[in-house]
Amino acid sequence: IRIMEQACTGDSSLQVRPLKTKYPQGAERMLIYAVTGRKINSSLLPADAGCVVDNAETAAAVYRAVALGKPVTERIVTVTGEAVARPSNFLAPVGMDHQELLEAAGGLAKPAEKIVSGGLMMGFALFDLHVPVTKTTSGLVCLSADEVSRHRPTACINCGRCVAQCPEHLVPARLARFAQHGDEKNFLKYYGMECCECGCCSYVCPARRPLAQEIKSMRKMVLANRKKRQEGDKK
Ligand code: SF4
Ligand code: SF4
Repeated sequence: IRIMEQACTGDSSLQVRPLKTKYPQGAERMLIYAVTGRKINSSLLPADAGCVVDNAETAAAVYRAVALGKPVTERIVTVTGEAVARPSNFLAPVGMDHQELLEAAGGLAKPAEKIVSGGLMMGFALFDLHVPVTKTTSGLVCLSADEVSRHRPTACINCGRCVAQCPEHLVPARLARFAQHGDEKNFLKYYGMECCECGCCSYVCPARRPLAQEIKSMRKMVLANRKKRQEGDKK
C-alpha cells in the first residue's frame, strides 16, 4: 500500500483506498460497496454503479494489450498444498497441462486426496490433471488426506451459521434445498442469483453440507435456462 501510495503521489486522479482485510472483500459487489458505498444486484453491471473492477493482473493485461498489442498468453499460477513437493508460483503459458505444472513444482510429495483448481473457497475439484491452463486459471491446490476432512455431509441441524456468514444476506440452507430439487421458481424467489459463490456457507456448516456447490450448480442451470429461453424467443 505504501508503494502504491508513493506511485500515485502527484496525480490527483488516482487514490489508494486501503480496505479491511476480510473475506470475501474482493468480490465485485463487495468491493464496489466498500469503496463507493454504491450497491448493485446480480441484474446490474459494475458500470451501472459507474465502476470498472479489475485486479492487478487484469490491469497489467489491459496495459500489455493496449500499449504493446500483446494478447494474454501467460498466467501467474500458484501450485500449493501440503501434498506438493515444492509449492511455487509460476508464469505458465495458457494451454499448459496441469500435470506439467505440478511436475514443475516437484510433483507430489505424498498422495493427494483432493486436487482443486483455483482457490480453496471458490475453486473446483479436478478429477484429471490433463486439463489446460486457461486465462482464468489462478491456482492448483493439492490436499493430502490430513488436510481434507473425512466427514460426510449429514442432515442440517438448523444452526443458522450459514445465514449468519452469508455476505449477501441469503439463506443458504434453504437455497441449497431448492437447488437439490431443481426448484428454479423458489430459488429465484429467495434471491439465489444474488449468491457471489464465496463458499462461506459451506466453510462454516457443521453438518458439512456442500451448500455453495449446490447453489453454484443451480445458478449455472438458471443462466443456461435463461439463455435457452432467449434463443427460443429469437426464433
Ligand atoms: S456461497 Fe453461500 S455464503 Fe457465499 S454468497 Fe452464496 S449463499 Fe452466501
Ligand atoms: S450451517 Fe449447515 S447445519 Fe447450520 S443451518 Fe446452515 S446448512 Fe444447516
